[in-house]
Amino acid sequence: MEYDVVVRGGVVVDGSGAPRFRADVAIKDRKIAALIDPGDAANVSAAREIDATGLAIAPGFIDLHSHSDWVLPIADHGQILKPFLLQGVTTFVGGNCGFSVAPVMRARQRMLDESGRLCAERKFDWDWDDVAGFAAYLKRQGLALNVAHLAGHGSIRLSVMGADAGEPSAEQLRAMQTMVERAMADGAVGLSTGLGYFPGMIAKPAELAALARVAAAAGGVLTSHLRAYSARSLFFDSNVPHNILAVREMANVAREAGVPLQVSHLIFVGRRTWATVDDTLAEVERHKNDGVDIAFDTFPYTCGNTTIRISFPAWAQTGLEGLLDSSDGWKRLRAELEPTGRYIAESVQLMWAVKPELSHLEGMFFGQIADELRLDPIDAYLTIARESGTRARVLNHLYSGYDYGDEHALRAAMKHPLNLFEMDTILTSHGHHNPASFGTYPRILGHYVRELKLLTLEDAVHKATGMAAKRMRLGARGLVRPGYAADLVIFDPETIGCGADAKTPTVAPAGIEHVMVNGSAVVADGKWCGDGLMAGEWIGRG
Ligand SMILES: [Zn+2]
Repeated sequence: MEYDVVVRGGVVVDGSGAPRFRADVAIKDRKIAALIDPGDAANVSAAREIDATGLAIAPGFIDLHSHSDWVLPIADHGQILKPFLLQGVTTFVGGNCGFSVAPVMRARQRMLDESGRLCAERKFDWDWDDVAGFAAYLKRQGLALNVAHLAGHGSIRLSVMGADAGEPSAEQLRAMQTMVERAMADGAVGLSTGLGYFPGMIAKPAELAALARVAAAAGGVLTSHLRAYSARSLFFDSNVPHNILAVREMANVAREAGVPLQVSHLIFVGRRTWATVDDTLAEVERHKNDGVDIAFDTFPYTCGNTTIRISFPAWAQTGLEGLLDSSDGWKRLRAELEPTGRYIAESVQLMWAVKPELSHLEGMFFGQIADELRLDPIDAYLTIARESGTRARVLNHLYSGYDYGDEHALRAAMKHPLNLFEMDTILTSHGHHNPASFGTYPRILGHYVRELKLLTLEDAVHKATGMAAKRMRLGARGLVRPGYAADLVIFDPETIGCGADAKTPTVAPAGIEHVMVNGSAVVADGKWCGDGLMAGEWIGRG
């Protein structure tokens, strides 16, 4: 048989966690057709050959926690998301943290447009309301990489209830359930929640369980940006670390709904939270042993991107713009932020100020911004919040450790058997970047696998591919195995890495030689193959 492509001379790290082995990989019609023993290689012919001598052949990396569904509906999204392909990412699961572009109700699309500015490259025409319509739109437009999708609880709640901060009526709850049911029928892989953000922060466990049950009935998963990732928060009133209570809350929701729970980006925010890592992981294990299908994910950095709104309490979330415009509101907000003033000054970095005239402040920490603006750090934070229309993007630090220092919490989470890898990055062409957009998987395989030996290569690749595909119901993806999609990354285990960090985030990765999406080369000899290459597919629930 004549194959389309054969990758010769490499070592296969197949994504299952099994030990690496020597084989040539043959591709035909977008799929892996055969694994060929090196002894039989002479009998194999293909239209194209890739020399992988000295290199590893792995499944393309799967980012199971993405916000880039907000960038996809523009035809040039491949240009924006190019750094994902360059680091070997061939698939992402969008719609995370409750905030998805589908399903939505048409009447609310303008409202979602406003909140979407955080994640979107620019405004787009909403051509859909449901997940089927979104998928059809993407199929018509083309996709630079493979995409699966979660229905976001926040988008659904805003669609049904607007900015109403109350509990849903029975009728509203039924309307939300109907949207989840329809999204699952349209191929969504599950339901996402963002309980640190409005409106997720308003939702009680009973509401979440009622919706998760619908996703579970269709075979989907529940992902959750938890209510709290720090030992103390505004959400609980208890001496038990709040991040542990937040895990417990969602594990109980998952138990009640009978749904697999994926705890999103299990970070430990702030120094005193780092000490809770062992107890938090024990809490996860306790629920696992008690029958809850629970797992979690991490990214390999001690900083992460989010909205400037994250620091404001629930009572201020609706009408935040108005509060920032009144002197009384300003005073009340100041008082709320006072206890976190030092964290804001030293550990919150402005990524995107929205207003071009403030772009010189991007990349600075709020302590520096305060000096620039001759304000104190809290007033500087409130000023940027106001001037950006509360849409500014920030990079928060002290997540599970600090740069070039103590990372024991991060490493304990990364190497845990229930951990999977993800990026959680917001990538647009605006502002200061998140290093995760450029270097997540190369950093895992270079720094944590080769240099620190925190995990084996096989284990790390498994958490980034086969384990992720299974967890997120992606069907025949994530393994180098006949019949599976020919999503491949071919890299040098001796040189793979990326020096991107919070100060200089836009560093190209090293050691990634070739990347293929459904059998098409999207990166060859370390270089992006260019604009207009739409090799990706919409992935419905497998
Ligand atoms: Zn999140």
